[in-house]
Amino acid sequence: MCGVLRLSDAGKKVVLMGWVNRRRDLGQIIFVDLRDRTGVTQVVFNHELNAGIHQKAEALRNEFVIAAIGTVKRRDADTINPNIPTGEVELVVEELRILNVSKPLPFLPSDTALANEEMRLKYRYIDLRRDAMQFNIELRHKVALAIRDNLASQGFFEIETPFMTRSTPEGARDYLVPSRVQPGSFYALPQSPQLFKQILMISGFDKYFQIVRCFRDEDLRADRQPEFTQIDLEMSYPQTESVWAVVEGFLTAAFKAAGHEIKTPFPRMSYDEAIRRYGSDKPDMRLPAMVDVREAMAPEERKRFNTAFRVRGGFPIQLIRIPAAGDISGTERRTIGTYGAYAYAQGGSVVNLMTDPKRFARDYPASTDRILTFANIAPDDLWLFACADNTPATAVQDYHSFCLRCGFLRLDLAQKYAGKHKAFEKTGNPENDFRFLWVSDFPMFEWDNTDKRWNPAHHPFTSLHEEDMVKLEANIDSVHDPKSPLGEIRALAYDVVLNGTELGSGSIRIHRQDIQRKIFQALGMTEEEARARFGFFLEALEYGTPPHGGIALGLDRIVMILAGADSLREVIPFPKTAAAKDLMMEAPTPVAEGQLRELGIQVKK
Ligand code: ASP
Repeated sequence: MCGVLRLSDAGKKVVLMGWVNRRRDLGQIIFVDLRDRTGVTQVVFNHELNAGIHQKAEALRNEFVIAAIGTVKRRDADTINPNIPTGEVELVVEELRILNVSKPLPFLPSDTALANEEMRLKYRYIDLRRDAMQFNIELRHKVALAIRDNLASQGFFEIETPFMTRSTPEGARDYLVPSRVQPGSFYALPQSPQLFKQILMISGFDKYFQIVRCFRDEDLRADRQPEFTQIDLEMSYPQTESVWAVVEGFLTAAFKAAGHEIKTPFPRMSYDEAIRRYGSDKPDMRLPAMVDVREAMAPEERKRFNTAFRVRGGFPIQLIRIPAAGDISGTERRTIGTYGAYAYAQGGSVVNLMTDPKRFARDYPASTDRILTFANIAPDDLWLFACADNTPATAVQDYHSFCLRCGFLRLDLAQKYAGKHKAFEKTGNPENDFRFLWVSDFPMFEWDNTDKRWNPAHHPFTSLHEEDMVKLEANIDSVHDPKSPLGEIRALAYDVVLNGTELGSGSIRIHRQDIQRKIFQALGMTEEEARARFGFFLEALEYGTPPHGGIALGLDRIVMILAGADSLREVIPFPKTAAAKDLMMEAPTPVAEGQLRELGIQVKK
């Protein structure tokens, strides 16, 4: 292979096959960097040594595929290339075979400047020849292999589940596949193998996993793909902690495959704490939490502050701290609150900001030092307060959305001053670079303001906390009531989070048919609707279903983080665009009239 020859191979006769990465013609001598997926080797065609072959080599162009047969030679000291592993040797060619030619290319794999992404996706086969893409795809292979090996060593079986199936509820739109033999009927591509993996528990395969494609027809956000890969698993008789230990096991193996030793167990936090301290259900732990400073304020000053900043009673005064941001100008201070996600979430101004610490120190002298200590503030830190506004016109928000807004501001500021606090830069120490976290006890239901109803926050097969069962029963017919205590019911659901990104979600499941029925009822499904959609599953639950639970993690996202890439498309060999198109295959396409007729389908123009 083109990346393997070393000084110790000098004198050997070898055959290299690969692509012409670059060709330099110095007249009497032609150099070619020959490339395959393992690297490049310099091959030399010398007119003096072999005029015939030298002449043949004049025809070589970028990306021709050749076989070069010759002898490995130590390079002269002044021509050694220390930047590549094969840099001490070159191949002096004795025989050249041109295996194939190439047209001039739209861009070159050896180009340092990147072609635009549309070109890269249209000519994906050329793009994939680039070093960076070869690295990413190899990394993906290694990570997936490490995960498989690890899960197998933990006693899991990899079991396949069908792609042509029926709708499973993960909350997105289905991709449908029309049936020809049963006109008018459709399969749905799985949004996840959720029901199959639960059925596998009922079938006695007590530890299942699968690295599997899932399909969700969602409006694509920048970091989504219509088909993506999950590391999906399910186990029988689990405690939440046993699922977590399995995940920590395979993530350790996956990160090790990429050269990082991570530490387990991961820290844990309840959903409520995450919202309160980070204003997010996926806290980025690389920066300090927010701190409610009410109790650190001198009582008289707190009263005065509440009036001056129109603080809504009963709401926290959130101190947001960005380390090492340094002194910022008055103008810059006044623009805090106009940044991206925060400004967007803010809408009509419902959060008041105190952004002038110097003035605060002057006006509230008895509180300042206490706050500095209470919130661990260093002289170089940027800090400010966010408070809920109390004026009747804007005081519409609830505690939850107030916290989320504070969380947005915290992240916006963190982005803005990233160059200063450097918390997002890799240090080489996995404990700093990869801040994992388990978030648990998510709400069971979330209010959907468009459809005016409660929906499952995770999916309808998730168990709730046993103590919350009473609340479910008391409010089982309140699916359209936004004030219903359904919103307070906690699920045995958990997410694994890394550096502020959700890597995966899972839960302990309902394994009793009577409880599953109640959940469907609480979700506003009639007995008949539940039967029609999930009848087979409700029936299966009646034949001796063991307690079970599981989780699914996004493989693409994990590889993206490990590759240091900034888009999922960099680690998926053949990804789709934001418009869900495959630019290389040119899919999707209209199909022939005849094909549609066979399926009994007519397309409305
Ligand atoms: N099926 C769920 C999902 O894809 C994961 C799980 O609950 O295991 O999000």
